[in-house]
Amino acid sequence: MHKKKIVILGTGGTIAGQSADASDHIAYVAAELGIVTLVEGIAGLASAHELLVEQIAQADSKDMSFAIWTLLAERVNYFSSLDDVAGIVITHGTDTLEETAYFLHALLSPAKPVVLTCAMRPASALTPDGPQNLRDAVTVAGTPGARGVVAVCAGVVHRAADVQKRHTYRLDAFSSGDAAPIAYVEDNRLRLLGNWPAAHEIRARAAIENIATLQSVICWPKVEVVMNYAGAGGGVVHALIAAGVQGLVLAGTGNGTAHNELDAALKVAQAGGIRVVRATRCPDGHVLALAGDVFETSKGLSPVKARIALMLALMLPGFG
Ligand code: ASP
Repeated sequence: MHKKKIVILGTGGTIAGQSADASDHIAYVAAELGIVTLVEGIAGLASAHELLVEQIAQADSKDMSFAIWTLLAERVNYFSSLDDVAGIVITHGTDTLEETAYFLHALLSPAKPVVLTCAMRPASALTPDGPQNLRDAVTVAGTPGARGVVAVCAGVVHRAADVQKRHTYRLDAFSSGDAAPIAYVEDNRLRLLGNWPAAHEIRARAAIENIATLQSVICWPKVEVVMNYAGAGGGVVHALIAAGVQGLVLAGTGNGTAHNELDAALKVAQAGGIRVVRATRCPDGHVLALAGDVFETSKGLSPVKARIALMLALMLPGFG
């Protein structure tokens, strides 16, 4: 039987990084090796799968841009529409992996697996983690029944909506928080624990139109995150209002709470037509709605993901 293809899209990150000293895991340059080199470096990968490899970008993901996101969405949407493609793998830096994953999930809700992977050590390390992560991601992308945007790191498969980078250094740097991961990858096999993300048919159908809209938007809406902390005032919010911000996400304390002065400034923003979403700086747990709430809640999304949801809502019809 003819094997279906796995598409591998490279965007850079530490997985493609190199340092002069193999024992140096932090002072390296990210995004140096091309995706073809990374794939060729994994023994047996190309012979076990029919692969299609494309370099989308070569970026340190701390510098992730809306232009790369738009191109990535266009390529993911294109490849997932091809009958002979089983799934898509994206190599990415760890720093903003959860944001790109959530962006693709929210925009495309694909019915095929779209698997982001990464590395905490550069490719030049004595024992780099990238090759195994990439191999695991290909395993997930080729698993029958797999669906939706997920992230694979250190043998753990996380949903886009749940995944968060939680550690600055360890190889197992990601967590699904309160939610359990979907699966583990063990010796090129998947041990499934939960359900794949639901494909959102309406969004998937509107994807081409949505991508065309994103391509035509010169400036994405200005949506910023403001954090609450002891002694927080309203100055940052007032400065953002003056700068023309269109949306604000509160990374609040606890159940999305804000210091009185910050809260007052956010109310001024909302009264002026700026949408304000209440999220929490706690890594686990959802902000729960309260009777008489003035601001909408982030519906379980972290502040950075709530920001993406709000940007999409401000740009595209049907995004809430
Ligand atoms: N700064 C790197 C990046 O996000 C970190 C990494 O990939 O681990 O591209």
